[in-house]
Amino acid sequence: MLHFDHSLARDLDGFFVPWQAARPPAPRMIAWNAPLAEALGLGEADPEQLARWFSGAEDLPGSQPLALAYAGHQFGHFNPQLGDGRALLLGEVLMPGGARLDLQFKGSGPTPFSRQADGKCALGPALREYLISEAMAALGVPTTRSLAVVATGEGLWREQPHPGAVLTRIAASHLRVGTFEWAAAHKGREAVEQLTDYALKRHFPDRQEAHNRPLALLDAVCEAQAALVAQWMNLGFVHGVMNTDNVTISGETIDYGPCAFLDAYADDKVFSSIDRGGRYAFGQQPLVCRWNLYRLASALIEAIVAVDEADNEVARQMLEAFPERFEAHWLMGLRAKLGLRSSEPEDMSLGRGLFTALDGQQADFTRLFRALSASLGGDYGVVAAELTEREALWPWWNAWRNRVERDGGDPASRAAAMDAVNPLYIPRNHLTDAALSAAEQGDMAPFERLLDLASHPFTPREGMEAYERGAPDGSPAHVTYCGT
Ligand code: AMP
Ligand code: MG
Repeated sequence: MLHFDHSLARDLDGFFVPWQAARPPAPRMIAWNAPLAEALGLGEADPEQLARWFSGAEDLPGSQPLALAYAGHQFGHFNPQLGDGRALLLGEVLMPGGARLDLQFKGSGPTPFSRQADGKCALGPALREYLISEAMAALGVPTTRSLAVVATGEGLWREQPHPGAVLTRIAASHLRVGTFEWAAAHKGREAVEQLTDYALKRHFPDRQEAHNRPLALLDAVCEAQAALVAQWMNLGFVHGVMNTDNVTISGETIDYGPCAFLDAYADDKVFSSIDRGGRYAFGQQPLVCRWNLYRLASALIEAIVAVDEADNEVARQMLEAFPERFEAHWLMGLRAKLGLRSSEPEDMSLGRGLFTALDGQQADFTRLFRALSASLGGDYGVVAAELTEREALWPWWNAWRNRVERDGGDPASRAAAMDAVNPLYIPRNHLTDAALSAAEQGDMAPFERLLDLASHPFTPREGMEAYERGAPDGSPAHVTYCGT
């Protein structure tokens, strides 16, 4: 069985409400992450028993479900009372190696934080989170993971009928910027300090002895988020709803709602139906990340200056300098994508120059980097084939080749290094949509195929070329809907 502990319930009294999952009428296991289950220390169990446990039909032994309070800025507007409206924290699992991970249900029924909504989750969106979070994990991006999706046997209404489901997800924790905003707005400085101590102990234990702990936490979260968003940008990932309640303190990606991977590169690309102003467009993400960190700083500032008035200025400068911190992570990732092991001062302009040259070229973000590695032998044609205007990347490609020359080493090992960080398979939006529709109709085969490829994103597979391409020309634009 799972080895549960409940440090949050012990240490953060007043931040949650104990609550029970709704009992689903007819739980049925739809997706089960056996390797993750094993890593969590969950032994063999009968699938029907697992379906009852991981849907709330039967209490999971050792769990103590609770709904967490949090606030958040949604599309720039502060909402002081969000919270787990359709989620329950079951507790922390102590892994065989000693790590502590949250186990959470999503879609397990209404809680005191549900406002007018039903507290449920449709099967398609639950599987979407499962697929994309597992793909992100395989791509090496910090993320919540998905353990199970169980159909509840209940129908839901989301503009049309959908089967209901409960997703079980695993996270370093579910503390968010919005948790700090909630503490600051409702409880004041002491609660913020209490939350700070808990967050440091859990995520940044080496900073617990810092002179100014809330300042040390702000710095650690800036670092974790800079690294995270840099990885998104280097994969063409658009989160879609970077509200402060969806920004973790741990630096993991969380809440796979209207997210998507770019097909054609475009800085202003938006997929979410509700993001009309383009606030969370692809190219906006580093800026929004900093905006969100300012919200964290606001929640922490009283506690920061209580230690030392002068640290107000240190915090201000920390956020001012965030763009450089982000760019350092971004450039480090981009160097690897471009096959460069050394660093040169001009690399930043080389990196930026790539995207300037790609502007308007309709180049597939993912395929382009594989084409670059394929072109190392001197064949510009494989790169040109990805562009609207064949010569658009020619000057940049020559500059890159000169840079590669200076970097030294042999072409074969460089190509291998590039192909180990530039994926061949991502969950393409049109394939994901098709797989989720099929799943809601009872056919899991397309989902399982896509999950299998996305879980091994770097290794070419015979006969799977269709999975390497974006939507065929003339397909309707991919849009995802929130409130899923
Ligand atoms: P999200 O957009 O998923 O990050 O959710 C934002 C807020 O809305 C959170 O407080 C959620 O718990 C809540 N929420 C989203 N969908 C539902 C739902 N179907 N029922 C109750 N609360 C919901
Ligand atoms: Mg959320």
